Amino acid sequence: MNEVILDELYKNLGKYVTSDNMCKRLNISRIAVWNRIKGLQKLGYKIEAKRSVGYRLAEEGKDILIPYEIKRRLNTKMFGREIEYFRLTSSTMDEAQYLTEKECPHGLLVISEEQTNGRGRQKRKWLSPQGLNIYASLIYKPTSMSAVKSIALMFATSIAIVEALSDVGIDNAAIKWPNDVMVNKKKIAGVLLETKSESGILKSAIVGFGINANMESIPDELQDTATSVMMEIGEKVDRATLLSNILYYMENMFRLIEEDKDDKVFELWKKYDMTIGKRVKIISSDGEVEGVASDIDEQGFLLVKTDDGSVRRVVTADSLRFV
Ligand code: ATP
Repeated sequence: MNEVILDELYKNLGKYVTSDNMCKRLNISRIAVWNRIKGLQKLGYKIEAKRSVGYRLAEEGKDILIPYEIKRRLNTKMFGREIEYFRLTSSTMDEAQYLTEKECPHGLLVISEEQTNGRGRQKRKWLSPQGLNIYASLIYKPTSMSAVKSIALMFATSIAIVEALSDVGIDNAAIKWPNDVMVNKKKIAGVLLETKSESGILKSAIVGFGINANMESIPDELQDTATSVMMEIGEKVDRATLLSNILYYMENMFRLIEEDKDDKVFELWKKYDMTIGKRVKIISSDGEVEGVASDIDEQGFLLVKTDDGSVRRVVTADSLRFV
């Protein structure tokens, strides 16, 4: 119903639409229309009401992260065409997992304005305050894809974020292997991938990403390690535009992987990478490795040249630090 009201207001942007017109279109009372208008104003729409004239949307909605605004900006075929929206949830990954089990459509996007239990890898907490950032999980169901391509999907998502950040004026974002997007050595976004495979075939993947968008400051515990788009460019970013651009780049990049052009994704990843060539210390369940990150292999695993000259292939890292 709100979508019909928004359609009507947008069609007449800057001009008044009579209340009667909306009542007729929706088959609801004037009071019901007014209540819906109040709800839209609360979301941030600049809607003016004039007695016996009607309602006017003074300008396009800015930084209103609801499905309607994302879809208005969306340039994809499948990704984000259907959106499951929450004002508050424990984690978009949990919601997406539940939806995946319920046979949801390919490309379904889950977003929330706040997460009480947002998570990074190894169930580490992802700070997710209300109304400022982007917390999203995309459900991806390939028709026929080898499970070894999972890491390429993660790389593709990080690349998509770097490219979308460049569109809003951050042109020095870089990727820290395997899943973090950094600006000036501080984390601005994280990517999380959870997959289901059978006999080496990827059945479904949930690609989660959290982007620090409009946080004006960073809480103490992450003061030295995190940043946000707003802190980097000095102004608010329109999250609906940023998110729809990410989905557009993701869809294009995922298509390359579907067409077995993973090398192109790896090439781009290397262009934006900040890990290769650096001295790193990796801590994982297999123990610690220290050396120079020399390359990634054809599956995206990190190759680390240790001081004794041997090369270690790092599949997962609980933590990677530059030393
Ligand atoms: P690390 O950041 O310790 O190297 P990681 O890169 O694997 O590990 P993730 O597991 O992807 O990190 O993300 C969780 C970590 O990110 C948390 O332990 C915390 O240090 C940091 N973090 C949590 N919330 C945010 C946020 N909103 N922005 C930036 N960093 C965050």
